Amino acid sequence: MNIQTITGTTSLYALLGSPVSHSLSPTIHNTSFAHLGLDAAYVVFDVNTQNIGEAVAGIRALGIRGFNVTMPCKQAVIEHLDALSPAAQLIGAVNTVSVEGDTLTGHNTDGAGMIRALSEAGAVLSDARVVILGAGGAARAIAAQAALDGAAQVHLAKRPGATFATAQADVTRLAEATGVDMALVDFSDEGALADAVSNADILINATPIGMGDGSTEIPVNVDWLTSEHYVADAVYHPRRTALLAAAEGVGATPVEGLNMLVWQGLIAEEIWLGEQLADSGRAISATPVLAALAI
Ligand code: NAP
Repeated sequence: MNIQTITGTTSLYALLGSPVSHSLSPTIHNTSFAHLGLDAAYVVFDVNTQNIGEAVAGIRALGIRGFNVTMPCKQAVIEHLDALSPAAQLIGAVNTVSVEGDTLTGHNTDGAGMIRALSEAGAVLSDARVVILGAGGAARAIAAQAALDGAAQVHLAKRPGATFATAQADVTRLAEATGVDMALVDFSDEGALADAVSNADILINATPIGMGDGSTEIPVNVDWLTSEHYVADAVYHPRRTALLAAAEGVGATPVEGLNMLVWQGLIAEEIWLGEQLADSGRAISATPVLAALAI
């Protein structure tokens, strides 16, 4: 946004977290706001878990219209909010907060961003069998949203180790809460992973494997993939990971992590601006945002 266009009526949106100086969120939101012709601006504030409460109190006092939350505050922010969406409640982490009067509601759009990117590519979540590589923050957000959106089966794959049992308990809790068939597979058990991936409709990499310029790392054996698979990567740098290139090579449908990133932001805008956009007939679009990111 050009500084001259900020006036006394401009609505302010923000990102809280640390570090935030290299975040792509300001580009995503300011590009989208400009495309929508909105009198709105998005800024970042470096906030940590010690001062997140004061920051949220400041947001209430200043009339900021909505905000995102990133590491390390995604859990710590919860006690300062008034309500949680079903996804945020299930995931136990918040990345988007809506402000309606005095009520701050926490949402989590990370999983929804991935599901929207998959849907845009033609994948159907209803009754789908989904395999997610990794069991960290992104994997759990995607797993919870996939379950909420009607997946028949969600398997996560995690390396064995000290945190396996805790992750297994979390997956069991998610399965009980959603009624969806969910399981945690041992990433190092090649037979079990091959079975899960071969029988899946959708494979999602939510590990950092493949991240970084020139990386040729692929998290699974490409022989397990067919042209029937949708293969998505949460990694967005590089934009076309080695996994996505290999998936495309066997005729599978690739879905880029950058689309997940853009959609988690644009779904936050749908939450903040929903009624305003519906009334004005304006529509959110990922196209100008993807062009502006140009990575
Ligand atoms: P995280 O919480 O640290 O979780 C990472 C997961 O990957 C863990 O389960 C970890 O396994 C697993 N992992 C790491 N290295 C591995 C390896 N060599 N082999 C097998 N598993 C491995 O991270 P996160 O926040 O979920 O992020 C995961 C990836 O998604 C990152 O690349 C991040 O940049 C990306 N991401 C993208 C978006 C987007 O919008 N596109 C959003 C969020 C995250 P253990 O549990 O065994 O340690």
